[in-house]
Order: sequence, then C-alpha cells, then structure tokens
Amino acid sequence: MNEATLYRRTVSLLSICFTLAVGCGAITNDYSSERLPGPKEVYDPRMTVGTSAQALLRQDLFRKVVVELQSVEGFEPTQEAINQLQRFLEKHLGRNPGQIEIHASGPIRASKADEPVTYTIDEVRRLERSHRRFHTRKGVIAIYFLFLDGRSADDHGDFQLLGQAHGNTSIVIYENTLREKVAKTPGTDRILSEVTVMTHELGHVLGLVNLNRESGRDHEDREGNSHCANPTCLMHSSTKVLLPRAGTAAPELDAACLDELHRLASDGVTQETDSAPSDPSADRHGR
Ligand SMILES: [Zn+2]
Ligand SMILES: [Zn+2]
Repeated sequence: MNEATLYRRTVSLLSICFTLAVGCGAITNDYSSERLPGPKEVYDPRMTVGTSAQALLRQDLFRKVVVELQSVEGFEPTQEAINQLQRFLEKHLGRNPGQIEIHASGPIRASKADEPVTYTIDEVRRLERSHRRFHTRKGVIAIYFLFLDGRSADDHGDFQLLGQAHGNTSIVIYENTLREKVAKTPGTDRILSEVTVMTHELGHVLGLVNLNRESGRDHEDREGNSHCANPTCLMHSSTKVLLPRAGTAAPELDAACLDELHRLASDGVTQETDSAPSDPSADRHGR
C-alpha cells in the first residue's frame, strides 16, 4: 500500500466558535473501521490513528512502551508536564513504571525565519521521518511526540490547532501556538495545558473516541469527530478542556472513555503481535 493511500484521509476539524478558538485535529483516514494491524503491520508507523491502541494497552502484546519527545530547539515541554504524562501512561497503559520509558531526543534546529513557521501535516511527517529515533520492535512499542515552533496549516480564522494525533504512534504538538494561547488567555496555565494536550492526543492514539471500531457505548459527541460528549472529559474538544484554568487539576478520562479503553484492552485477540518482523531493518524504517 503506498503512502498516498495510507494517508488518504479526512481531517476532522472540530467545532468552531469564535470564543472557542483552539482545538485538536485528530486525523483519521478511510481505513476500514474493522481493520486492526496484523502481526507485521503493527511495526509500521504509517497506520491510522487508533490502530495500535490494543498493542499499547496490553502488556502481553508489548512488554514495554517507549515514548520519545522531540522538540524544535526552545520549544520543549516543561519537565512537570512530562512528569504528569508519565503518571498518565502508568495509570492507563496497564504496565508498571519500569515498563514505561520517556526519552527526550536531541532538539531539531529552529527555523531562522522571524515569523512562526506554518506546517502542513506532510511536513510534520517529513520531520518525523528524518528525526524519529525509536520505532516499535520486538517487545517494545514506541510513540513519538513532536513539539513545533510554529502553527498548523489547518488553522483558519480564529481557530488554531494545539495538537494532532496523525498516525498510529505519532503526535504533533503546536507548542508555539499553545504558548501564545496561554499567554493571551488570562488564568490559564502552561504546564496544565501541555499535560492536557499531550494526554488528549494520546487518548486518540489509544482509540478514543470510537476510532476504527465502535466502543459499544454512545459517548461520542454529536459532531462525530472522535471526541467525547462529556464537557468535563479529557476527550472533549473545547478550549475549556484543552486550556485548563490555573489551580485546577488536569482533566481526566471520564467513565465512558475508561470503559472504552477497558473494552478494547480486554477484547479477544488471537493475532501474535509480539513477534519481530522477518526483516530486522523493518523496525527502523521510515515512511
Ligand atoms: Zn481531539
Ligand atoms: Zn469521555
């Protein structure tokens, strides 16, 4: 299957409102909703958002999870946000702390342009192809977060994306946009916003809401864009959730989203996903 086919997609732009000016743009494509990666495809970083959810949720499939954080120089997330990401992973991925590793890879050199760079999703993916160091291999599943110094080309009008889940193990955070929004929105908090956007996008990578399969519980919002209908849930798409007020706790997954994760994790799987690809180089291939 070629790249164009893999990435033929619909971009779900979220509810837009002049007072709700930020969001998330989880990208899904037209893969069959029944499709889950086979034994070799699970090593492929070009699969659709949500298709590696089960591999991430079940330690019997992959004993260890490696999360790689890479940033354009100067746009790194705060250490406290990374600490909270670690706690979220420990809580939801069914592994003990020793089975989850977060690595900060060396920074990507910043652009010299005065204006913030605008990134298309293809450019985001090119950067990942060039710089990502950790790929899924036998017993270890890898997730990649990229923190950028610019904005998304999908921004329009007053609507700006803070992050996007754009592959089975790929997430981009528009860190420059996030910092600008926090600076311009009194009472918001950068650490909380970073934690929330990172964990929200991770929620999409874990298959929320109803990505690639029906959860069996009706909790997706009416827009049908893979967000939760509960306005206090981490997987809701409003500015209020994505840019929390200072002094509050980061939003959590609600009971319906937790139930969806539990159902997915306990869903019977017969495929042997924890087997190395026959081509040893396949765990480090690019796109
Ligand atoms: Zn989202
Ligand atoms: Zn929810």
